[in-house]
Amino acid sequence: MKEAWSAYRESTTTRAMDVVVMGGGPAGCATAIALARRGLAVAMLEHSCYDTPRVGETLAPECRVPLAALECLQPFENDRHLPSSGIASVWGEDHLYENDFIFNPYGHGWHLDRCRFDAMLAHCAADMGAQVFAGTTARRCDAVSNGFEIEAERRCGGALRLRSHLVVDATGRGSSPLPGAQRCVVYDKLVGLVGLVVPASSQEDSRILLEAVSDGWWYSALLPGGTRVAAFMTDGDRLRGHRHDLSRFFISRLSEAPHTRERVGATPEVESLRLVAASSYRHRAMHGERWLKVGDAACTYDPLSSAGLLKALQSGLDAATAIEEWFGGDTAAPARYAARLEQHFFAYLGTRSAYYSREMRWPASPFWQRRH
Ligand SMILES: Cc1cc2nc3c(=O)[nH]c(=O)nc-3n(C[C@H](O)[C@H](O)[C@H](O)COP(=O)(O)OP(=O)(O)OC[C@H]3O[C@@H](n4cnc5c(N)ncnc54)[C@H](O)[C@@H]3O)c2cc1C
Repeated sequence: MKEAWSAYRESTTTRAMDVVVMGGGPAGCATAIALARRGLAVAMLEHSCYDTPRVGETLAPECRVPLAALECLQPFENDRHLPSSGIASVWGEDHLYENDFIFNPYGHGWHLDRCRFDAMLAHCAADMGAQVFAGTTARRCDAVSNGFEIEAERRCGGALRLRSHLVVDATGRGSSPLPGAQRCVVYDKLVGLVGLVVPASSQEDSRILLEAVSDGWWYSALLPGGTRVAAFMTDGDRLRGHRHDLSRFFISRLSEAPHTRERVGATPEVESLRLVAASSYRHRAMHGERWLKVGDAACTYDPLSSAGLLKALQSGLDAATAIEEWFGGDTAAPARYAARLEQHFFAYLGTRSAYYSREMRWPASPFWQRRH
């Protein structure tokens, strides 16, 4: 990181902006960078100071394209994330097979330090001219004539009030302060138990490992710094009766996953085990009067796709184009943006269904039945 994050935390009270972006994950940052490059006055509010763990560690090779379009490829490549050579899967059959990125026209992928990645994007937004407020939570977002008034709470104390012509909701899966935009279609009950483990051996296999089991699937990947993320993905109702001791449940489910067990050990020491929502959903409205949703705030993809970050970056770029067109008088541009996002989402649902249909070893399992 180029400089301490606090450099962008200068205190302000009231500002008039063209656009306020609520949420500074990859989607919010991509939107803010692309808008600032177009010369619009943009403020981005981010709840965290990029100092707490985030899920979503694998960056697909295709992300080179949006990162280059955002002029962030060079700072990203300077940032020492771990190259990933491909995916090893135990899916639909008992043995391991490989899908090497060597055949991918964009080259290898990466395992990320997500905090560092998101903070790098936020620095790029600030360098591009966006006003970035880290440690700032948007609490209210009220429609007023010609725009919105946004009220935010600052971690360092005090409130921040902004006025803008247009608002971008990039708050991810969390609850958004945007009024009247919360109805969504949820497609499954997927959750993830995600932990960090110290690898069982010093082997440095940089491939992602996917391993299907009777009531879900595992993924594991090496992270920068030598730890490994391991996640058990299952349906939320499968955790009934285990919520009081998720660590024990997590380790017990390893018994069916010999390849994952080989990587992380049979009884690994698990750090910061977290239960996270991972369902696929789409909001019924992805845009409205003077607002748009980007990234996971609009729709979410199954982590199996490893495409959530790509979608976040691309939707941010695409939203910025629509916003520029809207400021230029093309009032239909946000609707066209939302239609494109929805079209991608339905294509993703088809791919997801095809992928889950390749696993037929447990026909009586509710987890797999729900996906066939
Ligand atoms: C278990 C799991 C594993 C995954 N693995 C992968 C993977 O390997 N590869 C991949 O590509 N994708 C993966 N994903 C998906 C990926 O993490 C998301 O698609 C991606 O993070 C979406 O980016 P975003 O910017 O839309 O949302 P987020 O990354 O969630 O960012 C939202 C931001 O908004 C901030 N925020 C929220 N509310 C407010 C508020 N009121 N005010 C201010 N700020 C606010 C949050 O602090 C956060 O920084 C995974 C998801 C899960 C659940």
